[in-house]
Amino acid sequence: MESPSCPQCYAQVLGTRFKLLRQADTTQSQKSSRFVTAQSPEFTFACGNLRIARIALDVPVAKLFDYRIPESLHLAAGDCVWVPFGRSARLGIVVGLALRSELPLARLRSVLGPCESVPRLGSDWLGFMSFLAQYYQRPFGQVAAACLPPRLRRAQPLKSGGGESSSPPLSERPRFLAPHPLTEAQRRAVDRIASAFGRFQPFLLHGVTGSGKTEVYLHLISLAIARGCQALLLVPEIGLTPQLEARVRSAFPAARIALLHSGLQARPRSEAWLAAARGEAEIVLGTRLAVLAPMPRLGFIAVDEEHDSSFKQQEGLRYSARDAAVARARAIACPVVLGSATPALETWHNALAGRYERIELPERAAAGARLPEIRTVDLRADPPRAGIAPTAIEAIATRLAAGEQSLVFVNRRGYAPVVCCDACGWAAGCRRCSAHLVLHAPPACLRCHHCGAREAVPRACPVCGNVDLRPAGRGTQRVEEALLRLFPRARVIRFDRDSARRRRHFALTLEAVRRGEGDILVGTQLLAKGHDFPALTLVVVLDADRSLRATDYRAPERLFATLLQVAGRAGRRDQPGLVLVQTRLPGHPLYAALAAHDYAAFAATQLEERRAAGFPPFVHEALLRAEADSLEAALSFLRRAARLVPVPPGVRAYDPVPRLVSRKAGRHRAQLLFQSDSRPRLQRHLAALGEALGDRAPGSVRWHWDVDPIELE
Ligand code: ADP
Ligand code: ZN
Ligand code: ZN
Repeated sequence: MESPSCPQCYAQVLGTRFKLLRQADTTQSQKSSRFVTAQSPEFTFACGNLRIARIALDVPVAKLFDYRIPESLHLAAGDCVWVPFGRSARLGIVVGLALRSELPLARLRSVLGPCESVPRLGSDWLGFMSFLAQYYQRPFGQVAAACLPPRLRRAQPLKSGGGESSSPPLSERPRFLAPHPLTEAQRRAVDRIASAFGRFQPFLLHGVTGSGKTEVYLHLISLAIARGCQALLLVPEIGLTPQLEARVRSAFPAARIALLHSGLQARPRSEAWLAAARGEAEIVLGTRLAVLAPMPRLGFIAVDEEHDSSFKQQEGLRYSARDAAVARARAIACPVVLGSATPALETWHNALAGRYERIELPERAAAGARLPEIRTVDLRADPPRAGIAPTAIEAIATRLAAGEQSLVFVNRRGYAPVVCCDACGWAAGCRRCSAHLVLHAPPACLRCHHCGAREAVPRACPVCGNVDLRPAGRGTQRVEEALLRLFPRARVIRFDRDSARRRRHFALTLEAVRRGEGDILVGTQLLAKGHDFPALTLVVVLDADRSLRATDYRAPERLFATLLQVAGRAGRRDQPGLVLVQTRLPGHPLYAALAAHDYAAFAATQLEERRAAGFPPFVHEALLRAEADSLEAALSFLRRAARLVPVPPGVRAYDPVPRLVSRKAGRHRAQLLFQSDSRPRLQRHLAALGEALGDRAPGSVRWHWDVDPIELE
């Protein structure tokens, strides 16, 4: 037993957790400061000498702040406190206690008081935050303190909830109502994963759509709860999949389930967060941000549809919730399951290398359910009318006659992606972004999908005066219009981000479609995820080829995942489903792999291409991104930044380039790519460069890191 009674024996007292925090601190140019993570309140009481609290605040400065602790207050690492900052009070997290500060004691301001509604945050959570701060090159305070729900940070603290919580006695643990007896394959998966309770082991649960992955998670959650643990289930977009929440609730009718996603109102969100943090919620179900919630008894993590790009946050702390989930599982020694029909190539690569254990669910779970048949429709031989090939029109008509539903998939919302002038070649563009304006109708208007700008449709071409402006290409609204014309008696329902703006309305419409209302659904990606439509037997995919021509090397991976997921909507029960993919490239290997439902073959060719080209997952990447009033300012900032610290051997730095959308909302954007075969080397270089850059940037320049970037826009 270490005896933490004397402030002289820091190193002894601190142990491994201190090292973690200390490291984070070092990267933030605080090398000289020493601090103590007191892990037990006894320690704080015993050592009256430590009257300085080192506090993490959500402010854009890479350091921790020292405050004096008033006599009456006993603090320990992980406590949330109110402190004065400038002229306002802020909520901060105590990360350590110290004997000395760089400032004389008399100049330190005092802690105002504890934030009683937030329980003491555990050292494993602080360690996890510290890991994220280091990995994603962001100040610790902006990671940890930024995790506190906005409502708690801003307003009066909620009423006190009684701090520490203990796990409920066994008899009171909520019952589990298994929806179905498990199939052989599901049983094996559950047993295998459950055997890893209590230790770190990542699993890839690779199962075709409808193979019963969700039920595997539910069983594992019940086992975790039976062990007195909390379980975390991450999903891509929960507000849009109310069905999943309903499934979890009916499997655990008496459990406390905390729902966490950014669409929640401030109050339910902070209540759910507190329920997680106090250990009261047995299950936390949420989107990427849920991975950041403190959970003192966390013992099992599942990430559903782990390949989904919405797990990557694209602003602030640019973390991947999937990777963070694995890091968190490692830190607390518990199993983590990544589930998907089309795993991210990074994940697949990890499984092939043996870092993740792969478990296959090769068949659909429900008795008699078969995978849909996937066929290409050659648009060269079968020229489309209003974007839809005669073969597809006929297939829809057959479903209509049989009273079955069809889904037409178009991955663009709006009426037409461009409005242009055939006489001179002009196309309507956004004034503030390097992007075309999208035509929306009715009432007709032009909108920018990057900055949200709206404009009236010009009556004539502003360049040549031609009054015949033409919408080019097709979005969901235009396809809806075409379908209504082709099938005047059909009930056509459109789903996209515009029609889903009101969540409740969206949920009700989904429910109605599930009951069999609606004949033809037109939808984007939104419809691809996790919805189960029993009467849907046909899926028509309109413009898949576009992704194959994209410059982004991840486009084929995303296309394959989306198409297989959309295909998974067809024929969920006893009716076999049919998927028609319209294309001008019917011989493309991607479509052949798709038709064979052969993810492994697809992944093998993609990985080979990436290996040859030197792309991730064969190298590690990070971007230094800058934006400024002019492109030249952004580029020259990056050029100078690149020279601040010599690039060490084993790390490659490329020339700064404008981003794909080089201007967004009036700001010019550029980026500088770093690559390395060695993650630690890359990390060290980023940290050194970050330190050299400091907190300042010249003039209008703003910069940030994006580690493991996925969007190349
Ligand atoms: P996935 O998450 O892999 O897409 P789900 O767990 O949603 O699969 O299951 C797909 C369908 O199969 C659901 O309708 C579910 O109720 C059903 N199902 C899952 N497991 C079983 C089982 N063991 N027996 C019968 N039906 C099952
Ligand atoms: Zn013109
Ligand atoms: Zn714009």
